[in-house]
Amino acid sequence: MSTCENCGQKWTWRSIVWQTVKFKNNGTCPYCGATQYIVPKSTKLTRIVGYIPAFLIILLTLVLDLDGLGIILLAVTLMLVFLALYPFIIKLSNTDNMRNF
Ligand SMILES: [Zn+2]
Repeated sequence: MSTCENCGQKWTWRSIVWQTVKFKNNGTCPYCGATQYIVPKSTKLTRIVGYIPAFLIILLTLVLDLDGLGIILLAVTLMLVFLALYPFIIKLSNTDNMRNF
């Protein structure tokens, strides 16, 4: 789980997911109050993880012969799985590294 670069405390799964749901790449540390930026641990890993749901939707739609509702349910399920795993693949930083991209 991600650790605050300022105070070294581990953030909870919920606080990271909450920042993600708000589509913000920064958040205030619940322990020391410092602004922490959420940065991908590895851009390569994030890219791979980002493509897996899209790949699975296409593959499972073909294999299971899903209809419209099935595809939507599958997409929602994969999104929840991605959100559940996301806090484990990101890292917190004192500086906004996303500006470099
Ligand atoms: Zn902190």
